[in-house]
Order: sequence, then structure tokens, then C-alpha cells
Amino acid sequence: MFATLSDRLADTFKNLRGKGRLSEADIDATAREIRIALLEADVALPVVKVFVAAVKDRARSEEVSAALNPAQQVVKIVNDELVTILGGETRRLRFAKNPPTVIMLAGLQGSGKTTLAAKLALWLKEQGNSPLLVAADLQRPNAVGQLQVNGERAGVKVFAPEPGNGVGDPVAVARAGVEEARRTLHDVVIVDTAGRLGVDAEMMQQAADIRDAVSPDEILFVVDAMVGQDAVNTAQAFLDGVGYDGVVLTKLDGDARGGAALSIASITGRPVMFASAGEKLTDFDLFHPDRMASRILDMGDMLTLIEQAKKTFDADQAAKAAAKLTGQGGDFTLDDFLEQMQQIRKLGSLSKIMGMLPGMGQFREQLENFDEREIDRIQAIIQSMTPGERANPKMIDGSRRARISKGSGTQVSDVNQLVDRFFEARKMMMSMAKGGGIPGMPGMPG
Ligand code: GDP
Repeated sequence: MFATLSDRLADTFKNLRGKGRLSEADIDATAREIRIALLEADVALPVVKVFVAAVKDRARSEEVSAALNPAQQVVKIVNDELVTILGGETRRLRFAKNPPTVIMLAGLQGSGKTTLAAKLALWLKEQGNSPLLVAADLQRPNAVGQLQVNGERAGVKVFAPEPGNGVGDPVAVARAGVEEARRTLHDVVIVDTAGRLGVDAEMMQQAADIRDAVSPDEILFVVDAMVGQDAVNTAQAFLDGVGYDGVVLTKLDGDARGGAALSIASITGRPVMFASAGEKLTDFDLFHPDRMASRILDMGDMLTLIEQAKKTFDADQAAKAAAKLTGQGGDFTLDDFLEQMQQIRKLGSLSKIMGMLPGMGQFREQLENFDEREIDRIQAIIQSMTPGERANPKMIDGSRRARISKGSGTQVSDVNQLVDRFFEARKMMMSMAKGGGIPGMPGMPG
């Protein structure tokens, strides 16, 4: 996501590097480049204008001319302004004083609303809530069935109208769903409503009727980040027709541009609250404007990575590996290496993980072409080694390498590469574990 914008901005900042002072011409040129970068990424023109004016204004000010490194100061300003247009501080869900908290979803058909309902439900469940999903989208054929399937995958109950009861009244279903939640002590209700392919008066009226019937604590507008400029118009139409408290961006995994998504918060004055970036139910999280800005500027998103790692990793196993790396608890072996790699894989695709590390923008192409089967190959090689070889990789000589490559169906050069890589990784991890930072990490800002 936002790859085009990231690349463009990186080029812009490159031109400033090494400059001791910024001249008026430098500032103008930078502002012009930022403007083009934003427009190319599909950011709406009014947002671009305000953004560029603010950057220019601040770039001329004391904070930059007094700074030791003006280029870095400009990056910081762009970062701040990005955070601002994305809605400022992270906006968390407001829960009702008297449960159930009612969350209503609105948005166009195909925006990913039904998928999102289940993602949000799973997310809430993981936070210790007991959500109920309500299928009030009676428009799209099989929307109810789809919600039931997704609800089941998320392990969350779905309230749906009885089949065969005629067309059904979505307002009545929504109302009955909230009643059901109250009766069965669910503390959050998520109401999925019908969308249309385009903005349409009847759909707006139905959504407004559901809103009036269930008085939601939060109305979330769900929008597909891939649709481009039209997203801004749709967002405005829903704001006028139904109103909402926050925005959910879906399909952030899909688009290299995604600038429309950057425009919605500032145009509607409603913060982006959640982001959805994949078809899996777990590809979903709170939206943090500051972290997103860091990612766009290729400053990495270590916080998210650390949080995900905490959720995924086996704490005992990680502690054992860490102890070994700091020289306690025996040597860090190829078995540990394999185990670590399998743990990391649980986090998601390698390209996704690397995308959260700072300075990785320059490797984007290699990451996108990374063959995930590589890990399978590594696994096969390690599993073709004897326990002795795994514990003490130094003993893997030429004839052993030949045997291992045959056993794993790989080339000797693959085995060589793996063993070399293991020693390199061990060295790097040991220095990280000892608090030496990440050696040789390119492009670290600051
Ligand atoms: P609805 O009509 O708004 O309820 O949309 P759906 O939930 O049925 O989603 C429409 C399509 O988008 C489905 O094929 C989903 O699998 C897909 N989808 C939803 N969210 C995401 C996402 O974050 N990333 C990707 N790549 N696909 C998504």
C-alpha cells in the first residue's frame, strides 16, 4: 500500500540530503515534488493544497533554518502533516456505558463490509468482548449466508432472520438483533447493513432507518481503499445521508496508490478507525495515523511488528532462543534457527513483515518477488541433517553437504548458502540480543 507515494517522497528527500541550508528555491522545488507525489497517489486536490501549503509554511520557519539537518526536519514536517490528514491521534472504539454497545456498518456493496463485520467481531472477541453479529443486509443475495460462514470462522454468533419468512424487513432484523444481544448478554452488537453498487436514495433511507431504530454508539463507514477518487465522493454521500463516526479502510493490501484513503479523513472530518489489509479474518487492526505515516515515509512500523510478534510468538520458546543468543543456555543451533523461522512465518508473509522494517522501501521489488517456498527449501535442508550436524553446523564439510543436498532434493550450492546464512544470522542476532542494534541496517532515519 502507498508504494508509489513512498517511492516518490523518498526521491524528493534524497534531493535535500546533505544540504546545510534550504534556499527558497529548494523549498519551492520540494513543495512541487510533494504536490506531484500526492496527486499521483490519488490524494484529493483540496487535501493536497492544504498539505503542501502547511509543509511550505513550516519549512520556511525557524524550526527548519535552525535545525542541524534541514532535510531531516522536512521529513519530520511531512510526517507530522501526514499524521494530521490521517486524523491525528488513534481513535479507539467508544463503548456504551450500558451494554450492549451497538456498532453499525454502512458502505457500498463490495466494499468488504461483510468480511469486515466478521474481522471486527473476531478482533473484539480477542479483546475479551462477546460480540454478536447481526445480518441486516437482506439486499445482496447470500449476504446473510456469507456472514454466517464468516461468523462461524471467527467463532462469533450470528443473528439472522429465519429463512423462508418472505423478503424480510432489515430494520426489524436489526432491532431484534440488538434485543437478542441484550437478552443473551452479548456486550457488543455489530449490525451489517445492505449496500448498493452505487450511492442510491433508497439504500441511504434504509440505513438511516436502521440507525434510528437501533441508535448505534458507533457508525462506521466501510470503504474500499482501491476505488480511487470515487471513494471520497461516496464518503461524502454517506456522511450526508446517514452520518458516521469513523471510517474503516479495506483492501489496503491491494493498492499501490491508495491516496483516496488518505483524503477521506480530512475531507469528512471523521477519523480512520480501522484498517483491513487482506482476506484473512486476522488481517485487521486499529488504524494508527502515526504508524501509517511512518510506513509511508519508510521509517518502518516497529510497534505493529512488535505487537504482532507478541501475539504470535511462543514466549517460552523466544526466551530460550534469546538466552542462547546471549551466550546462556547452550549454543544457538540450526534447530533453533529453523524454529525461529517457522515462528516468524506464523506472523505472515515475509514481504509483509519486511515492509514494516525501516529502510526497506528500496528492497520493495525483491521483497515482492520473494519466493515463500524458499522457507520450505530451508526446512527440507535442515531436516536432512543429522541431529549432530544441526547442533554443531561447523562439522558440515564437503561430503556431508553433498549427502544433505541429495537427501533434501536441493543443490549443494543451496546447502552452502544456507549454512553461510545461518552463521551470518547467528552473528547478527547475537549482536542484536546484546543490545548492539541492527548492524548494517540501511536507511535508518534519525
Ligand atoms: P460487501 O459486499 O461489502 O459485504 O463485501 P464483501 O465482504 O463480500 O467483500 C467483497 C470482496 O472483497 C470479497 O471477495 C472479499 O474477500 C474481499 N475483501 C474484503 N476485504 C478485503 C481486504 O482487506 N483485502 C482483500 N484483498 N480483499 C478483501
